[in-house]
Amino acid sequence: MRTAVAEVALLRPASKLSSVSKPSIRSLHLAELTQLLAAQGQPAYRAKQVTDWLYKKRVESFATMTDLPAAMREQLAADFSFVGPETVRVLGSKDTTRKFLFRLTDGNLIESVLIPASPALYGETSDRRTACLSTQVGCAYGCKFCASGLDGFTRNLEPSEIVDQVLAIERESGERIDNIVFMGMGEPLANLANLLGAIRIINAPWGLEIGARHITISTSGLAPQILKLAHEPTQFRLAISLHGATDAVRDQIMPVNRKYPLATLLDACDAYVAQKKRLMFEYILIAGVNDTDEQAHQLAGHALRLSAKVNLIPYNTVEGLEWSRPSRNGQETFLRIVREHGAVATLRREKGHDIAAACGQLRLQTKRSERQPV
Ligand code: SAH
Ligand code: SF4
Repeated sequence: MRTAVAEVALLRPASKLSSVSKPSIRSLHLAELTQLLAAQGQPAYRAKQVTDWLYKKRVESFATMTDLPAAMREQLAADFSFVGPETVRVLGSKDTTRKFLFRLTDGNLIESVLIPASPALYGETSDRRTACLSTQVGCAYGCKFCASGLDGFTRNLEPSEIVDQVLAIERESGERIDNIVFMGMGEPLANLANLLGAIRIINAPWGLEIGARHITISTSGLAPQILKLAHEPTQFRLAISLHGATDAVRDQIMPVNRKYPLATLLDACDAYVAQKKRLMFEYILIAGVNDTDEQAHQLAGHALRLSAKVNLIPYNTVEGLEWSRPSRNGQETFLRIVREHGAVATLRREKGHDIAAACGQLRLQTKRSERQPV
């Protein structure tokens, strides 16, 4: 797989681009901060004051943390960085899905999406504002239909870089996020430790305080990591990107299936469900690839085996790829067959979400244009 590392060097320097080597203050959990400050002779309550400034009052510098002693603020500024992502582009407007392109401190680009309240998202009627977050720069899994996989893998995101996306979206939009889906760039389970570190901050009462049931992780099917998640105490939601109900179809579009074929993946899902956890299937409908009646019958069988809800998502075209979605009629027929078996299934019909599902495209376009001579 081609990597994007060499190309990053070709990007035009950005205003905030700097060689930040200090760790981000938002990489620490309350317990770690308490320990660190105790070692500096600070009383236990100081750590909570810092997290309040970071996640409740959302200040942008240590200098603004006015109830901390000046010497402590200076020490924090010497040890930690406050720099977050820089907003490069925003697509969409209020009341529609908005897509944000952020530049990280090392110059890499990532995408995040804000999906407004009310439309039915991921199969449920929702009045929540959802942030769709990236977990990696690029993706190594190379699914044939996906813009994020087109450009290869660059690196994992740090926990702070994952959390920062929520803060940056809220700052840019003035809206409060109350639902998180890890369906942006990257394979979340290939960056499991950092993902769980970020989720702890997003979920914690001292952090962003978003309930675990409002946090959904999506995976292309990393079976060993699904087994690990089965034993995670936090009750977040898991979505499996199935996109094919047989090995023949999955092999054709998702290289990960050669490593973890359907039987292995479904066994891992069984173990997950056995821990009284629920999961759902995502199934993009791609014309002529995975939309046959036979696939619908097989998909219903897998869903019933795992009591998994099925979210059918019409494919969004990606520049440079020839795949397309089936006709409206074809989509409805597929849905009907799955339902006739007794499986619970929904078909995403809102046009407004099209922008969200094709994460990675904005980054690709921007990288390409930045590579042109000025
Ligand atoms: N890597 C993880 C999470 C990121 S992708 C995963 O694969 O699950 C999030 C979802 O968007 C996945 O279900 C993915 O298959 C889907 N997706 C990718 N490209 C798409 C496109 N062009 N149209 C519709 N959905 C797409
Ligand atoms: Fe990676 Fe998910 Fe895209 Fe596949 S669908 S290339 S796993 S981001």
